[in-house]
Amino acid sequence: MILIVDDQPENIYSLRKLLESRDFKVDTAESGEAALKKILQNEYRLIILDVQMPGIDGFEVAETLSGYSKTKDIPIIFLSAANTDKEFITQGYASGGVDYVTKPVDPDILMLKVKTFSKLYEQQRSLNRTQDALRLEIETRKKAQTELKEQVDQLHKTLESLPQIAFTATSEGEIDFVNKQWFQYSSSMKQFPPTYEGERICEKWAVYRKNGSPFELEVRIKALQSEVFRYHLLRIIPIKEKDSVVSWVGTFTDIDDQKQIEKRKDEFLSIASHELKTPLTSVKAYIQLLDRSIEKKPGESASIYISRVQDQLKKLDSLIADLLDISTIENGKLKLNRKVFDFEQFLDHVIQTVHHTHDRASPVIERVGDAIDVLVTADEIRIEQVLINYLTNAIKYSPGSDRVIVTTEKGDNHVKVSVRDFGIGVPEDKKHSVFDKFYRVEESSVKFQGLGIGLYICSEIIRQHGGTYGVESHAGEGSTFYFTIPLD
Ligand code: ADP
Repeated sequence: MILIVDDQPENIYSLRKLLESRDFKVDTAESGEAALKKILQNEYRLIILDVQMPGIDGFEVAETLSGYSKTKDIPIIFLSAANTDKEFITQGYASGGVDYVTKPVDPDILMLKVKTFSKLYEQQRSLNRTQDALRLEIETRKKAQTELKEQVDQLHKTLESLPQIAFTATSEGEIDFVNKQWFQYSSSMKQFPPTYEGERICEKWAVYRKNGSPFELEVRIKALQSEVFRYHLLRIIPIKEKDSVVSWVGTFTDIDDQKQIEKRKDEFLSIASHELKTPLTSVKAYIQLLDRSIEKKPGESASIYISRVQDQLKKLDSLIADLLDISTIENGKLKLNRKVFDFEQFLDHVIQTVHHTHDRASPVIERVGDAIDVLVTADEIRIEQVLINYLTNAIKYSPGSDRVIVTTEKGDNHVKVSVRDFGIGVPEDKKHSVFDKFYRVEESSVKFQGLGIGLYICSEIIRQHGGTYGVESHAGEGSTFYFTIPLD
């Protein structure tokens, strides 16, 4: 909007007509005081200001406007009838005008000036806006940078205070900070400590770096001053912002003592289970001899006791077999004996076996799903061990329930077997641990006997077959344990 200020209404009228005929929006004021009021309240892109007015004259209006940041840049064209002297014109410019026009006014020239000045004003305003936005952006960035630096400093202080070796790396994997512990193991900040295994940590990590996923590796490293390599757990975690990795934080934690204890425990298990096996085999043989040598009469106590001893011996045998399996797995010696077999027959046989070895009050095992009418290549005895384990667990952890369902699914290149029970279920936060070695859900461990190794052995057997395993469950609503094995 353009403001015309003149004490003569006829002057205002003719100028207003002229400007409105060129599509300009116009406002008017008939005195300096009225003009100042309006200018402070409204937005004008140009002021056409009469110089000679009673009260505050045009020059005084202009000088006042130049004192306010809001108004100082509005262009002013002075209009004057009388004062064409150089002195007046100079005063006009000095008080903040951009032009000085004397009456009578040439309408075309005035219009050209109005157009040019209002356009210039608009451009300047837009430039000012851009400048303000830029200034704000710079300030925001500076603030963000300062905050980031503070965070990084804080992180470095935290990493310095850790007893572990700690470091950070850029998103490309270049190490950019190490704590003082690092230099006890590596002479260069840019190089990982050399490992006993000769493994190149950088290369192993590269795959995980590409995916942006956390990386874990057990390695043996040694302090520069020492001759002894110790087991360390290397963990490198991505720091993400909006799904993209901005840096990595890593630590090496000394787990050697833990490893040695585990090793001694595994050695003990291996020796103990082997040692137990020999006398157990003899006891089994003598019981068989005893069984054959006594004269059996149905219902007689001696034969009932012998049969109970045999049941208990079977349990003992299976416990020792599990313990032996653990040490075989730990030594990396679990070998598969793969053969082609008929999966349908296999399933029937396993379900029958479990059925016969449980009493009549046990849940009924139902079979649903796809018929597996293909030959499968796998270690039949080991897969049977897995399925028997799932089924006996399903029965064991479902007191009072009346059925267990075995479901089979034939995929394009795998077979999936699921065992569903309606028992106590596994709490959400324990589901990821049930396949761990010696893990038992605490809430149920007193009520149900066990060693917590069955599912661990199952997971290793399935892993060696290249299959997958898992559990879906809700506490109190039962569980579905499943495994898959590849078809080729
Ligand atoms: P064990 O049964 O000898 O304790 P497992 O390795 O077979 O050892 O199972 C580990 C743990 O997983 C069990 O102690 C139990 O807490 C839980 N678990 C396994 N199967 C089931 C099931 N069908 N329902 C509920 N919990 C189960």
